[in-house]
Amino acid sequence: MRIEILTIGDELLLGFTIDTNGAHLARELASVGIEIVRRSSVGDGAEDIAAAVREALDRTGAVITTGGLGPTADDLTKPSIAALFGRAMVMDAEHLAWLEERWRTRFGGELPHSNRQQALMPEGARKLVNRHGSAPGVWLEDERGRWVAMLPGVPREMRGMLADELGPILRERAAREQAARGATGEPTVVRSRTLRTTAIAESAIADRLGDLARGMDGLSLAYLPGHEGVDLRLTARDRTAADADAALARGIDALRAHVAQWAYGEDATDMAQVILERCRADGLTLAVAESCTGGLLGARLTSVPGSSDVFLGGVISYANAVKVDALGVPAEMLREHGAVSEPVAARMARGARERLGARIGVAITGVAGPGGGTEEKPVGTVWTAVDVDGEVRTHRSVFIGDRAEIRFRASQFALELVRR
Ligand code: ATP
Ligand code: MG
Repeated sequence: MRIEILTIGDELLLGFTIDTNGAHLARELASVGIEIVRRSSVGDGAEDIAAAVREALDRTGAVITTGGLGPTADDLTKPSIAALFGRAMVMDAEHLAWLEERWRTRFGGELPHSNRQQALMPEGARKLVNRHGSAPGVWLEDERGRWVAMLPGVPREMRGMLADELGPILRERAAREQAARGATGEPTVVRSRTLRTTAIAESAIADRLGDLARGMDGLSLAYLPGHEGVDLRLTARDRTAADADAALARGIDALRAHVAQWAYGEDATDMAQVILERCRADGLTLAVAESCTGGLLGARLTSVPGSSDVFLGGVISYANAVKVDALGVPAEMLREHGAVSEPVAARMARGARERLGARIGVAITGVAGPGGGTEEKPVGTVWTAVDVDGEVRTHRSVFIGDRAEIRFRASQFALELVRR
């Protein structure tokens, strides 16, 4: 099955919103064997929308749109595509009643006039239920079997509707088409798995992997370096999802065998989550002392739901006086070695552990820049320390990147030092 994706909204053309909807749709659909022939974006104008949909229908006869289903004057997707199909807009009484009831219970009073237009549907359209918002999606099909599926712009609503409503419709159609063609289709299922590594350079991974990728039949390997580390993404193209998954499982095992020491998880796994799970399994508690990261490490740990049984808290000791008063770092040590130094990092980690009553103390002190670098301690120099029941590990890194990247890399490396 070949389809096109059209994302709608002036904000996409102006670059204020990144088209994550198009990316999500493309990934999800490719993973079940639906071929995405073209992805494009268009502004909110009714004529532009109609022209883009008309062209796509002429090419493939199958289009998914996102955006422009809301209640405001710039939301013109439904009427402009209805006009293209020669359909009138008619009031969906059931949806209108639901909107009115929802408005009454949430805000009290009458439904604003502009919200009523969300209950207008093209004649003969099928409604796609929106469990995460108020604008339903629309499935519109003509007598020749050409169709447009209209999804909302809000990413969470779009993803929910794809999973609950549109996905099953498309999978069913794709299966029917494939059956009609016979089982000997091209491999159209595209699925991926990602192995996440950290604290190892892309080139070092490439050296370790050698010719491995060439031997992995039907799989392609991508190196994706970022500030969390290097992600290794394997992509399989196969005739069925089961075949693709089996090939991916073999490929991931082969990768793991070569970079086991640096691999901390798969797909969207965050390092903070990995550390929390590890500590929980070992019955350990964590406290942090942060200088140049200013709470970033604590924020990452607390952004994982349910972290409170492991993560106790921390001290943001940005000024030297706070390193002395709140963590017990000796003033002479700071004078002699400077705040960005091995003994200070180690003493901060101990201070966090002791003062917060944790088993593990983690400390970060560094030069995040852009100013403050010296020849001895250039911008990006970061000392991290981990104190486990009084046993201390320290590490000096020199991270590259701007202030935000250096701070993030420092938080990532501190977590990695706990993992070791
Ligand atoms: P609403 O009822 O909120 O008006 P809508 O279906 O009309 O929903 P839009 O108004 O086009 O959708 O977009 C709503 C929000 O979703 C916008 O803030 C926009 O930033 C975001 N959004 C829209 N399209 C995309 C896209 N392709 N990728 C990521 N985000 C998007
Ligand atoms: Mg809108």
